[in-house]
Amino acid sequence: MFSSQMEVHTDVKRIVTMLETGGSLPLTVTSGHVTLVDATGRQHDMLLDQCSSFDRLVTFLPGVLDQCRPNEAEVQRWYINRQRYNFAIDDGINMTQLRRQSDGWSTIQPGTKIVMRIVTTEVVRKFSARYRCCCGTRNDVKVDEATLLNALARGRIITCRRCQRRFQIAGTKGKIVRREGSQPNDDKPSQEADNLIRNFLVIRVLVCCDS
Ligand SMILES: [Zn+2]
Repeated sequence: MFSSQMEVHTDVKRIVTMLETGGSLPLTVTSGHVTLVDATGRQHDMLLDQCSSFDRLVTFLPGVLDQCRPNEAEVQRWYINRQRYNFAIDDGINMTQLRRQSDGWSTIQPGTKIVMRIVTTEVVRKFSARYRCCCGTRNDVKVDEATLLNALARGRIITCRRCQRRFQIAGTKGKIVRREGSQPNDDKPSQEADNLIRNFLVIRVLVCCDS
């Protein structure tokens, strides 16, 4: 007991000396925090270590949802149970998606902001940069076609000018595949519950008439 108190005392003295001489603290003392913004926009303080991989962060989601209001937790659980969510690093300008196998997990540092988004899919006949938000506001972005295709490949960020919900719109080409017994696309939580969601990844699947 006495010797461990002595060790703590010595450690504290060492740290004070380092600070006085302008040194930096060892990592174990500065162990950092990461902000997780859930899909409803609520911020959660996480330890860096809790965000070291997709699977690790997922194990902490039940605890994160416990910090939310019951209706916020419920709608997020609905999407999580259907695997219709993902994570992205938000640097204020870009959203970099954190896939399960992504290298991005190793770039997370103290102060990094991770956003959880709800993933929705839309089938379109033509790509556009226009997005009608769930609040009813039509958000138009004026870009030429080449810029648009480039932006959609990377994922274009649109912040609704009225309600400030954030959407990352990504485009991909695909075919409509109808599978026997597949869940209908309109399987959604109630509109009231859905309105609590603030962060989205919208994947637009471009289908051609002859595909
Ligand atoms: Zn809106």
